[in-house]
Amino acid sequence: MRLNVISELRQAIGATTRYDLDEPRLHLDQDEFASVRGSLTLLRTDRGLLATVTGQAEVSVSCSRCLINAKNQVKIAFEEEYVPFTDPRTEARVQVETSEDFLRIDEEYRLDLSEGLRQYILTSGPSKPLCRTDCAGLCPECGADLNVKSCDCAKPTDSRWAALSSFESGNEGS
Ligand SMILES: [Zn+2]
Ligand SMILES: [Zn+2]
Repeated sequence: MRLNVISELRQAIGATTRYDLDEPRLHLDQDEFASVRGSLTLLRTDRGLLATVTGQAEVSVSCSRCLINAKNQVKIAFEEEYVPFTDPRTEARVQVETSEDFLRIDEEYRLDLSEGLRQYILTSGPSKPLCRTDCAGLCPECGADLNVKSCDCAKPTDSRWAALSSFESGNEGS
């Protein structure tokens, strides 16, 4: 997701450019990927470009209970300022404080959205994703996927659990 933004940087402060985003395979973490759809607006600021992304991502994750591959939808509302090393209009070095919050546009005036989006999606998604909210998970004894079959392992005898399991069996097939 790299864009050459030299023409945007040559615009006057306040000018905006809009792009459609359709990134089918954004690498997140290990073997996790997301597909991102939405729009990107670049606003020329006094020292760089303010990138605003709105849209949604479909993230492939493993369900934290049953481990099957699941898709999670994440809404994206992402805003980050990207600052070049030199201003292409003046050839002057852009002065920044290292304590400030911004990302870099590289020396070839390419803006790479991937890292910012990756961070955003990783931190805004649920930390324990589920394939569905009522996923029954795996049996801790035999590992059976309790969404597709029951197993013969000892059932808990605590009455509160008994009430819960009768409730669940009454909802079978839902
Ligand atoms: Zn699951
Ligand atoms: Zn079992």
